[in-house]
Amino acid sequence: FCHQTRTYSSLRPPIPLPPIDHPLSVSEFCHRSCTGGATTFVVNATTGQTLSFSQFFSQVRSLAYSLHQRYSLLCQHDVAFILAPPSTRIPVVYFALLSLGIVVSPANPLSSNSEIAHQIQLSKPVVAFATSETSHKIPSLKHGTILLDSPEFISLLTQSDINDDAIKTVKVNQSDTAAILYSSGTTGRVKGVMMTHRNLIAKMAVTRFFNTNRGESNEDPPPSVTFFTVPLFHVFGFFMLLAAALSANSVVMLERFDFEQMLRAVEKYKVTSMPVSPPLVLAFVKSALTKNYDLSSLQGLGCGGAPLGEDIAQRFNDKFPNVLLVQGYGLTETVGGATNFAGSKEAIRARHGSVGRLVPNMEAKIVDPQTGEALPPGQTGELWLRGPIVMKGYVGDEKATAETLDSEGWLKTGDICYFDSQGFLYIVDRLKELIKYKAYQVPPAELEHLLHSHPEIADAAVIPYPDEEAGQIPMAYVVRNTGSNITETQVMDFIAEHVAPYKKIRRVAFINSIPKSPSGKILRKELQSAVA
Ligand code: AMP
Repeated sequence: FCHQTRTYSSLRPPIPLPPIDHPLSVSEFCHRSCTGGATTFVVNATTGQTLSFSQFFSQVRSLAYSLHQRYSLLCQHDVAFILAPPSTRIPVVYFALLSLGIVVSPANPLSSNSEIAHQIQLSKPVVAFATSETSHKIPSLKHGTILLDSPEFISLLTQSDINDDAIKTVKVNQSDTAAILYSSGTTGRVKGVMMTHRNLIAKMAVTRFFNTNRGESNEDPPPSVTFFTVPLFHVFGFFMLLAAALSANSVVMLERFDFEQMLRAVEKYKVTSMPVSPPLVLAFVKSALTKNYDLSSLQGLGCGGAPLGEDIAQRFNDKFPNVLLVQGYGLTETVGGATNFAGSKEAIRARHGSVGRLVPNMEAKIVDPQTGEALPPGQTGELWLRGPIVMKGYVGDEKATAETLDSEGWLKTGDICYFDSQGFLYIVDRLKELIKYKAYQVPPAELEHLLHSHPEIADAAVIPYPDEEAGQIPMAYVVRNTGSNITETQVMDFIAEHVAPYKKIRRVAFINSIPKSPSGKILRKELQSAVA
């Protein structure tokens, strides 16, 4: 799998994709595969509301028609911003927009007004979908904000007299942008990651491959009731939702996450699998509540988004020997998982610490960050990825796109990794600036920018500080202005006023100067080793 050019190829057989010049949206691709019918697609475990696959596709058709007719000013390629907690309405909105070639751009409802203003400046939406709780955060847009919890919206879902021919005139090219999700990439402030219908179709084709042919396993078919602990605006939840529709899997979600309510829902709905981030694995390991619920339906946990400590994985395996915990690795820029595992429980557990092998159709390189040389198995360097799931680029930011995607299509991940001799990937460290608080992205440059705006702060640097529960917490090194006595709490409160809760600075140290390279780059590793 490692060629002479030191390019690694997926060991899985290549998966054929539909001809590229064939107009096809990812929603249509999923719909064609879906055999769900009357079975339940989505359960809102907070309200008890359910939606079957046939109700879902009928609502998608009605909403697409309504948007096409009523908002005839809404054109293909326009962007729709979505700011709402999980509910049965979100998948309907995603699929209706995707079927019309309108770009879906979901964001975290906890974001602050200035964070949302920045995202809107990047993706330039003409319309928004929100709830009465979140709509006040959205500035006025060309076609306004549609409230998902309003009677008007319900009427859009239940239209009769739908003229399918009107919708059929919309031809979505696979190369069109399907979604813009937000990520800070390897440096700087948040950027809008453009993923095409082709990217998402490629991802769904891989999902279908692992559903119908477990690749390296003779075990039972994959689980079919999935509890979503990952948010629908993050790439992990976004592609899992599409995958659930494709594979006719039922999805259970809570409007607001709560560990015990989740356990109750696992018992009640006989949940078989869960996409999770590492803090949730820790919660499973530590919580005494797990013994109060019948979790025997649970077959697997797929963990990604941040590193999973080996010790935590081991403790999970000891406590839940019948639940298979597997790691995957990916980025928003690769529509989520670029690696995964298939195989028997024993084979997977034996590869403890690895994030699996490259998914089909993917290539990788391990590049020495100093020399640019591609490295053989066993040697550690920056992971580069290439293949049909790699994003189109960052919206409106050619510079950042060119820095991340080279002219041959290689995506520089900013992660330090190695492959073993059998093609299993291990993530060792992060070259990029990103901090991951409970698997949520916290871009240090954004917090530094805010700290610099404080009149009593002369200079600042933000680094990840290790934390058992969150993985990492943002820590600020602050240089006070002459005469200032600003305190730790004042620094933390100042940031907390401006950012979403998960981005808060949770630790502060004062310092005389920030270590920098001759070109002015903050020497983060130096600060990190000072706290290690
Ligand atoms: P995001 O775009 O939010 O999915 O963040 C992608 C980044 O999360 C990757 O570049 C990694 O730094 C980190 N990441 C994702 N999955 C893993 C994993 N299984 N182990 C270690 N780091 C991970």
